[in-house]
Amino acid sequence: MLLALRCIVCGREYAPTYKLTCDVCGPANGILDAVYDYEEDLRAKACLNSCKPSCP
Ligand SMILES: [Zn+2]
Repeated sequence: MLLALRCIVCGREYAPTYKLTCDVCGPANGILDAVYDYEEDLRAKACLNSCKPSCP
């Protein structure tokens, strides 16, 4: 699940919208990195593993 977009330069976070670059750092430097809900991802993977007993 996508939670937010975080600027790789200044760390400012934005809501996950159309926005691709940071207002403060500008489009040349302020690339926004996607922030995901990693705990939810881990839970989903654990479920997948438990649902496939043949998988190592
Ligand atoms: Zn920034």
